[in-house]
Amino acid sequence: MENCIFCRIIAGEIPSATIYEDEDFKVILDISPAAKGHALILPKQHYANLYELPEELCGKVMKLAKRLAAHMTEKLSCDGFNLVQNNGEVAGQTVFHFHLHLIPRYKDGDNRDLLTWNQLSYQDGETDQLVGLLRL
Ligand code: AMP
Ligand code: ZN
Repeated sequence: MENCIFCRIIAGEIPSATIYEDEDFKVILDISPAAKGHALILPKQHYANLYELPEELCGKVMKLAKRLAAHMTEKLSCDGFNLVQNNGEVAGQTVFHFHLHLIPRYKDGDNRDLLTWNQLSYQDGETDQLVGLLRL
């Protein structure tokens, strides 16, 4: 994927601040961090989003996120952690190569919610309808 910035980073064509690498993933610092230490887990293979990511890599990415969250929390002394993963432009995705954001949070930092939404409510019967539709 020659036009994909993350593929180019993985290929070494564009420099990155790499904090971890194995056969499946590269983990880099986000260039415009939401907080100190904000990192991105990138699969080395190009998958545009979660829909395309093979199940096998989904498991691996979450295991790696857990490992890095523990490591980064120890090293950065952060007080909490957000995992954020956007799929599709409407969901805020700007780079169309799957990535998982690892965002350390600090009590004395910028404590705005990273994702805020209006809390809507369901009308009568709507919940049952949705359960009928979505039950897997
Ligand atoms: P998303 O909006 O979920 O697609 O996130 C894309 C992220 O990639 C943003 O947080 C950007 O700051 C980050 N980003 C874009 N270009 C680079 C780059 N060259 N190196 C590191 N992070 C980048
Ligand atoms: Zn790519």
